[in-house]
Amino acid sequence: MTRYTVEQSKRIELSWLKSKNFLEGYRSGNIKWSMNENPTGNINIVVDTFSEDPNIKLTYKIRKQREENWTDINFSLKMESLPCRFGGKKWFFICGLFKNNKYCGQRVRILYEAGNYFGCRKCANLSYESCNISGLAKQFGRIVSFPEIEKIREKAKRTHYNGKLTKKYLRYLRIEEKSEDSFVGISMLLTEKVKRIKNNFRK
Ligand SMILES: [Zn+2]
Repeated sequence: MTRYTVEQSKRIELSWLKSKNFLEGYRSGNIKWSMNENPTGNINIVVDTFSEDPNIKLTYKIRKQREENWTDINFSLKMESLPCRFGGKKWFFICGLFKNNKYCGQRVRILYEAGNYFGCRKCANLSYESCNISGLAKQFGRIVSFPEIEKIREKAKRTHYNGKLTKKYLRYLRIEEKSEDSFVGISMLLTEKVKRIKNNFRK
């Protein structure tokens, strides 16, 4: 079993899984998250891309509010791959969460912690609007806003053609992943800022 420690918010990225060879059959491992070297959580994952129904299984423990005991969670998500036009294929998670009683089913490349589960950015309720990012954003290069991303997404009307991913859709995926990196960077900085402010209050 392979173990990894990732200094970031709790999310699971396909580009990361790929870099660690998780997408080459039946693979298991453990992801540990930390913030400033303090562990913030860990999960076991099993990725099966050889199965007729490719999927990722997540196993972890949660402690519900006002409860002392930990509860085991076994959560699995469907995966899907689409061939790229110039060879190779791209994998996706299918978000299996329900929002307002509606099954999500979004094809996504990054999963975020959404309550006790993991799902797409929308189901995890992440948005730029909730924070003031102007100053902080400069540290992470140009930020593409979510409305802008949605526009690019709309332009890429066809996600695939002849069973292969279209150029426009691949461009959208690249931009989305890049912007999410900046977003996560910013939310980490904000968390740090809030911590510092709180500490100053205590002094
Ligand atoms: Zn979703």
